[in-house]
Amino acid sequence: MRHTISTQITEFKKCLFELGSIIICEICGKQLYDDNNTHIDHIVRFIILANEFIKTEDNIQTKSTGYDRIITDEVIRQRWYNYHKQHAQLRALCAYCNTHRDYDDIL
Ligand SMILES: [Zn+2]
Repeated sequence: MRHTISTQITEFKKCLFELGSIIICEICGKQLYDDNNTHIDHIVRFIILANEFIKTEDNIQTKSTGYDRIITDEVIRQRWYNYHKQHAQLRALCAYCNTHRDYDDIL
């Protein structure tokens, strides 16, 4: 399900740095740059958002790609894309802070 919304994450990061202001990690306050050290994080955890969406649908078929699950139905996948766009609250963190959150949101 992450794959479907990955362009939204990329777009968020791009827009953030295009504004030209100084971007800092929202946890440690370190300055961030448009590079791989800047991670985009879901404030409301991704798994919570994904599960909320799953509850709104009757019968979601998914298939595993090994590290992600893909919604097989294209119409539902599009709805998930829109749902995520509407509900996700994103923020920038440094790689250290992002990877040191407690991770329970691997779908
Ligand atoms: Zn940080």
